[in-house]
Amino acid sequence: MLRAVLLGPPGAGKGTQAAKIVDKYHVPHISTGDIFRANIKNQTELGKKAKTYMDQGQLVPDELVCDLVTDRISQDDCENGFLLDGFPRTIFQAEKLDEFLKENGAALTVVLNFNVGKEALIERLTGRRVCKDCGASYHIVNIPPKQEGICDRCGGPLIQRADDNRETVENRINVYEEQTAPLIGYYREQGTLADFDGEQPQDEIFRAIVEAIEAK
Ligand code: AMP
Repeated sequence: MLRAVLLGPPGAGKGTQAAKIVDKYHVPHISTGDIFRANIKNQTELGKKAKTYMDQGQLVPDELVCDLVTDRISQDDCENGFLLDGFPRTIFQAEKLDEFLKENGAALTVVLNFNVGKEALIERLTGRRVCKDCGASYHIVNIPPKQEGICDRCGGPLIQRADDNRETVENRINVYEEQTAPLIGYYREQGTLADFDGEQPQDEIFRAIVEAIEAK
């Protein structure tokens, strides 16, 4: 059983580690950002509401997020656990999640927290490109695709996320510091927090994550 949360600023490498964790532990990867982006693509009511906030690098209001996540983790495929990526992002969301889990006789196993300096975050996010079709992530300098603009994995086109421009990136980092960073203290007090240096090589971070999970 693994009920885990990935915590860290935008660009900390949560998505990269999520793919590795899901591969090893076979739990559903639930990314609220991905859910919103899918809703925007499909032009749903939720997508229309979320887009105005996302484009500015602001958080989508708690009331649009919490039920979405509790509904998702109530589904059968989450019976043996889940990996939350990008949720919770406020103390309110964390409290709602704890309440929901408690009502269902469950609790979080571990909160994996990634630390990365601000300059590195800006460099990573503004250079990030993602595959429009499969979501694989690249970086124009650090992780270039074999052929420029084309996904190595599926051949789809690489695009820049609408919120990965410099101005929005800076907003997102400020929003993280103000609204999400307080969760570090919240989970440390709860005894679920495990810290990682997000500037280490990906494989080393993953090794440390596995160790932390196995120790729980
Ligand atoms: P991400 O893909 O996790 O970087 O999320 C992209 C954007 O989606 C964020 O900048 C927010 O606008 C919105 N978002 C994703 N998850 C949440 C959340 N838990 N609470 C509020 N807004 C969110």
